[in-house]
Amino acid sequence: MKPEAIKLELEAILPRVQKPGRYTGGELNQVVKDWQQIPLRVALAFPDIYDLGMSNLGLAILYDLVNQQPDMLAERVYAPWTDMEAAMRERELPLYSLETKHPIAAFDILGFSLAYESLYTNALNMLDLSGIPLRSVDRDIQHPLVIAGGHAAFNPEPMSDFIDAFVIGEGEEVLLEITCRHRDWKANASTRQELLRSLAEIGGVYVPSLYQVDYRKEGTVSEVRTLAPEAGNPVLKRIVPELPPAPTRFIVPFIEITHDRVAIEIMRGCTRGCRFCHAGMVTRPVRERSVEEILDAIDRALAETGYDETGLLSLSSSDYSQIQELVRQASRRFAGRHVNLSLPSLRIESLSVELMDLLQGSSRRSGFTLAPEAATERMRAIINKPVSEAQILQTARAIFERGWQTIKLYFMIGHPTETLEDVQAVVELSQAILAQGKAAIGRRARVNISVGTFVPKAHTPFQWVPCDSMEQIEAKHAILRQGLRGRNLKLNWTDPKMTMLEAWLSRGDRRMGALIFQAWKQGAKFDAWQEHFDPDAWEQAFASTGLDADFYTHRNRPLDEVLPWDHIDPGVSKQHLIEDYEWSLEGKTRPDCREHCTVCGILPKFKDLRQLHPGRVWKCPEVKSQSSEETEPIVRTTSTGR
Ligand code: SF4
Repeated sequence: MKPEAIKLELEAILPRVQKPGRYTGGELNQVVKDWQQIPLRVALAFPDIYDLGMSNLGLAILYDLVNQQPDMLAERVYAPWTDMEAAMRERELPLYSLETKHPIAAFDILGFSLAYESLYTNALNMLDLSGIPLRSVDRDIQHPLVIAGGHAAFNPEPMSDFIDAFVIGEGEEVLLEITCRHRDWKANASTRQELLRSLAEIGGVYVPSLYQVDYRKEGTVSEVRTLAPEAGNPVLKRIVPELPPAPTRFIVPFIEITHDRVAIEIMRGCTRGCRFCHAGMVTRPVRERSVEEILDAIDRALAETGYDETGLLSLSSSDYSQIQELVRQASRRFAGRHVNLSLPSLRIESLSVELMDLLQGSSRRSGFTLAPEAATERMRAIINKPVSEAQILQTARAIFERGWQTIKLYFMIGHPTETLEDVQAVVELSQAILAQGKAAIGRRARVNISVGTFVPKAHTPFQWVPCDSMEQIEAKHAILRQGLRGRNLKLNWTDPKMTMLEAWLSRGDRRMGALIFQAWKQGAKFDAWQEHFDPDAWEQAFASTGLDADFYTHRNRPLDEVLPWDHIDPGVSKQHLIEDYEWSLEGKTRPDCREHCTVCGILPKFKDLRQLHPGRVWKCPEVKSQSSEETEPIVRTTSTGR
């Protein structure tokens, strides 16, 4: 269907659907290039609705990057909400791009951002709405190359039937290498197989069809073998040694979106080493932008968008080495311009009273978020988040005294060795924090408690442990519901069934492709949305594929098991993860390696990173013999043994 015909169809459909602004394009700062003049065309897809996808910084970076290339164009596509999808299917309207309304099947490359697992069925649905064969094996040279990146791609196996090539790690450099290879391939019109093999030569690109997975009779992986010389094993993630200039020409939507602001990434990576945290393990090492660069980027972005809110993003912004200077200078530079600075993800350990004072003047007053994650010092040592109860209460008191009336607390239940007493402690710590609030500001104090359930993730020290069962989770929720009642306490928790979905898919293997396909066939989509998540569809899919959910979710994995993602290398070595897991069982904590390198494995693999750590006397493990005592990590026992 031609863009003109699509535009006509839209005129008939849009008056009948919710938020038509999701489907129109035409926003300020969108980039529209001459389709006929541009040889290489990329569709960037977020497999959920526009409101969420438009707030995805990763896609905004890639959109800006590709559109800077004179011979390439990038256009956006998001999952249509259910009413729009129904209207599209009724009128056989194919999925199209927002900028020029070209059908997605007309693009050369379709790139999905797979930020989390519950997006998988939407990706299949978008392929289906585009008329692109769902399975990679069924595509030929007339079909777009389908690639995917994002944190969930660090275990690419569950989606390997549907994705031609995965980008493992950071996409800024890799995507341009892929587009250049595709452009050259297109010029020579050779086979699709030759394209895939050529892509496999690029560092950080994983082409699943070039690998064979063998299984033992008990169902575990015995080996992952390469089927072509171009296929690396393992595939080492890609990172950008220096963060490229921050995008500032953000598209300004017609409708309200999840994060209606400009977003500036102040730092990438985190080295705190929380053992449950996937992002903290796969985004190493830490790289920071300078205060000057950040302030200039904010200035330009505000001028180019008209926004009055800026999100300073990173995994743990209070760990940014010049955080106070940044907030101080930003407050001075944007004083009187009514600019609101939001700083998500502040860590209790590095959240100083000075920073709170600085934030008082520059950020609008919604709640203040603290993430203890576990309520006892024993559990916090096990997850490697060693902060004392006294420090948590002191910080909470300081927050209330500075005028915040609500503190949002994030906890997770289900960590290894957790007892029901540890869960009861969530109740007690939340009440103790509320008491601090009442002491400081009286009855206005509020505490909102969000309790997620820990899901073991690939490439983390906890990748071997079982996830709690439904029964265990419900027993723990009962304790929390019983204890956290009252006018100034608000409790919410993750639906255990949605936890199970994440748990299956996070540590799934290649056989999960059949499961995801069957679940989609049964109608599964928008699995991240409570009102749309359909556990029955997944249950039927397990039944029809004969896979055993407990095998993936509740099984303790021996440390010598070949894991379905072992051929994907996040930089951090498996040896380091095993050591860290064993330390966790002894309650041993590991310091932030900014204090002292703990030899996680990144450095030997990214030798050219040294300039990023000037002054740090590193010895790669293989040269450890020269001065091992220098690199010996500091071991701190838990508060009991301090
Ligand atoms: S190599 Fe050392 S400093 Fe670098 S991320 Fe790993 S532990 Fe941290």
